[in-house]
Amino acid sequence: MLMRYYEGMIINFNGVRGSIPFGRSPNDMKELLNSDRSFDLNNQEDFIKYCGLGFHSTNIMIENDKKDSCLLIDGGSGIMSAANKIFRDYAREPEINILQTHFHWDHLMGYNFFPQVYMGKVINIYSPLDNLEENFAQLFTKPFFPIEYSFLKSNSEFNFFKVDPYKQYNISSFDVTFYKLDHPDPCWGPRVSIDGKTYSHAIDTEAERLDMDSLGKDSGLYENCDLLHFDAPYLEEEVIGPKKGWGHGSTLRAFKLAELFNIKEISFGHYTPDVNYQKYQKILSATSSYFDKLAPNLKNKLKYNFTYDGQIINI
Ligand SMILES: [Zn+2]
Ligand SMILES: [Zn+2]
Repeated sequence: MLMRYYEGMIINFNGVRGSIPFGRSPNDMKELLNSDRSFDLNNQEDFIKYCGLGFHSTNIMIENDKKDSCLLIDGGSGIMSAANKIFRDYAREPEINILQTHFHWDHLMGYNFFPQVYMGKVINIYSPLDNLEENFAQLFTKPFFPIEYSFLKSNSEFNFFKVDPYKQYNISSFDVTFYKLDHPDPCWGPRVSIDGKTYSHAIDTEAERLDMDSLGKDSGLYENCDLLHFDAPYLEEEVIGPKKGWGHGSTLRAFKLAELFNIKEISFGHYTPDVNYQKYQKILSATSSYFDKLAPNLKNKLKYNFTYDGQIINI
């Protein structure tokens, strides 16, 4: 069989919010626009100021550069954008392969409205978590949702694969390995690679373990990755203060990991609803002061950005 060679992957950030989808109301927009009339259509910062960083909860869609297959991470409300992209860009719809990190609502709430589950498709869900099918079925249970799982199963094929952590699997042209994250309920971050390019998913982690000894085998999530998507809705003073134990991190923690593991680029995300423009400005300025303190050899090769819904990064 002819082996295909892939030169990279395309990361689609379909949902970058955490906790709950959150957007600005028309009244909020009106208030902001009235208070500041200098809005510039060509300025990315202005867009973030008025529209926010995004609306949807977690969904990432990873495509290979030939766009012959894709992989989804989590079923937050952003999965609606993945559905539209699959309809639009794939003449022959690929099998739907989903990596599930954990069962918190913000990572599940999109499944009920993901059209592919009703359309006679093959849906494969992979995770180290127990009770995958039982928990998925509960999303389609009356009186919480009118369509029951038995109806879905009569149309589409669902396959649930409980995978072993730390073991590499080949799923839909990608190599995938799950690592443990630091979260109040079990949560697994997938490392996804294709022909030498690597995306590491560290969303829903407080990253309490920041050295090789305490990370142990979980160092593998971070080592030499090209792009790390990292959970950073809080300032470091919040993570060590009122938000301690909530399972979310700060940009400082990602930089500490970058110092250890030769990470090339970091995309921050999983913003809680309180991350409005003012909070975002605080995080930005704290982050640039953390970044300034990094060793010059690291600072020169590390890039970082704050993801927004609809952003696409090629690695
Ligand atoms: Zn979450
Ligand atoms: Zn969570």
